[in-house]
Amino acid sequence: MLIERVWADNAARNFHYLIACAESGEALAIDPLNWQACLARARVRGWQIRQIFNTHEHADHTGGNSALAAATGAAVLAHAAAAARIGGVTRGMHGGETLRVGRSVALRCLDTPGHTRAHLCLYAEARDGAAPALFSGDTLFNAGVGNCMHGGDPELLYDSFADCLSKLPAATRVFPGHEYLLRNLGFTLDREPSNQPARELAQRVTRVAAADMPVLTLGEEKQVNVFFRLDQPEIIAGVRRARPAMLVEGTPRAVFLALRDLRNRW
Ligand SMILES: [Zn+2]
Ligand SMILES: [Zn+2]
Repeated sequence: MLIERVWADNAARNFHYLIACAESGEALAIDPLNWQACLARARVRGWQIRQIFNTHEHADHTGGNSALAAATGAAVLAHAAAAARIGGVTRGMHGGETLRVGRSVALRCLDTPGHTRAHLCLYAEARDGAAPALFSGDTLFNAGVGNCMHGGDPELLYDSFADCLSKLPAATRVFPGHEYLLRNLGFTLDREPSNQPARELAQRVTRVAAADMPVLTLGEEKQVNVFFRLDQPEIIAGVRRARPAMLVEGTPRAVFLALRDLRNRW
């Protein structure tokens, strides 16, 4: 499986991805808002974009569909429950289904509602010595999570983290839908000032251009992303001070919901 990350170079800081079959050169474009950049990169690599996949229905993920489909003849795939809102979807997908690219790539659809109610991540198992890969859309960002203010639900987002994402292998490479690493590390350090890995990573990437940001693994995420660190006493104590009414129950769910609420105003 070949992966190209494409920087959209826009204010919303979107990342797009091309996933290609090394044997056939057939490619899938994920959330190709800047479709010209995706097409140009595919041409450089000698790939043919045959499929477009939307992680969810927001316009900054779907806005390039029709132009890219017109330019390439690609099919458009998205969560079946989001298809009507997206329009032009040729194949509605469900969690648990496998999406194939060419002859050699298999991607599993993970049902991960929360940022919106119909959000899919794509997951590739480890293969041929390559680590697993997660294309996480707006569910999981580097050092953060998606907001739930545009059709989402933080309770569902917690379930997606607890039941699905946190159980993937630590070696999984994370490919999110936006570049927010440094800003999110700021939130982590605000909630957990003693987090040395987060501090060191923030120093390391301070002057790194968005297009060159490092790819983190899920194991690294669990060190620097507060939303995976719900059992840390420093985080719990801070949340208890800031949102006492939300921490009546000290459960991981309550901590997650309070952190999501704090992040909305941070
Ligand atoms: Zn979104
Ligand atoms: Zn987005």
